Amino acid sequence: QKNSENEEKEDEKETEEIANFFSKKKFSDLDICDELKQSIGEMGFNKLTLIQEKGIPPALKGHDILAASKTGSGKTLSFLIPTINLMHKAGFRREQGSAIIIISPTRELSLQIYQVAKELLSHMSHTHGLIMGGTSQSHEAKKLEKHVNVLVATPGRLLDHLLNTPGFVYQNLMTLVIDEADQILKQGFEEQMNQILSLLPSERQTLLYSATQTKKLDDLIRVSLKSPVLVGLDEEQ
Ligand code: ADP
Ligand code: MG
Repeated sequence: QKNSENEEKEDEKETEEIANFFSKKKFSDLDICDELKQSIGEMGFNKLTLIQEKGIPPALKGHDILAASKTGSGKTLSFLIPTINLMHKAGFRREQGSAIIIISPTRELSLQIYQVAKELLSHMSHTHGLIMGGTSQSHEAKKLEKHVNVLVATPGRLLDHLLNTPGFVYQNLMTLVIDEADQILKQGFEEQMNQILSLLPSERQTLLYSATQTKKLDDLIRVSLKSPVLVGLDEEQ
C-alpha cells in the first residue's frame, strides 16, 4: 500500500516536472524556414520548452534579449533557432563572413553548442566553426579566412582572432550571443568582453543569457544590449 502511494507521488512529481519544462507549442508551429524545421524534427524535438516559448518569438523578430533561467531549461535552441533563421532569411552568403557569433565561457560548453548548431545547419549551406583556447590558432585562422557564418567561441581566443587574423570577416555580423554571461565574468573575462564589444559592429542583435545577476553583469548588460526583451527574469528564479 505504502509503495503504491509513493509511486503515485513519484508520478505526480514527474508530471509536474514535465509541466514546468515543456510548453504546449510545437516547433512545427513556429514561423521558421523548412530547413530548420526538418533538422529539429530529425533531432527528435517536438514541443518547445517554456524558456524557448518565451524567448524564440521576440528573437525571431530581431529584438535584443536578456534572459535568466536555470541550467537545463533549453537555452541553446532558444538562441540558435531564431538567429539561424534570421541569417537564412537574409540570404546571408558564405563570403559575407560571420553572421552569428556565440560566446561561451568554456571549451566544453562551446563544443556542446557547436554540435547543436552543426545539426541545425545540416540542410543549409551556411558554414560553421568553433574557435577556443588550447587548439591550433593558425589552423583556426585559416578556417576563419575561408569564412565561418556561424561561429562559436571562447572569449579570449575570439579577441585574439579579432585583433590578429586579418582575413576574419566580422563586419557583417547580424547577431551576437553571450551565453552564461555570469560565468564569463566569473572567469575574469570582463576586460576581454569590453574589447570584443568595442570591435564588433554596434548595429546588431544581441542575446544575453545568465543564470544569476551581479553588479558586474549590469555593466556588461548596459554596454551590450539595446532595449532588451526580458525573458524569465522573475518567475524562473
Ligand atoms: P541550458 O543551456 O538552459 O542549460 P540546454 O540548451 O543545454 O539547456 O538543454 C538542456 C537539455 O534539454 C539538452 O539535453 C537538450 O537537448 C534538451 N532540450 C532542449 N530543448 C528541448 C526540447 N524542446 N525538447 C526536448 N528536449 C530539449
Ligand atoms: Mg547552456
